[in-house]
Amino acid sequence: MCQTREKHPGKFEGETCITRFAYYYVGLGDGLEDENDSRCIVLKGPFSYSEIGKYQNDMRDYICPDCWRDILNAKAIHQWEDSQGFEYSEVD
Ligand SMILES: [Zn+2]
Repeated sequence: MCQTREKHPGKFEGETCITRFAYYYVGLGDGLEDENDSRCIVLKGPFSYSEIGKYQNDMRDYICPDCWRDILNAKAIHQWEDSQGFEYSEVD
């Protein structure tokens, strides 16, 4: 469970560190369209310590220990945006 769910209003409100991480990598063009849902982008794992570290350095953002572990264990991360512009993610 994420220890630092986003409390600030905005597109990440209520979301985990993983959603911010995935949004960043999708923004770099690293995602693929989800075969089962075209609204959704898939980032294929495995993800490395250095990828998570790069995110933290580039964005000056904190990833809590639980989300580090979940990202390292992820086979894939699905990321999507709803019609209001809010961002979400789900880990496989
Ligand atoms: Zn977290």
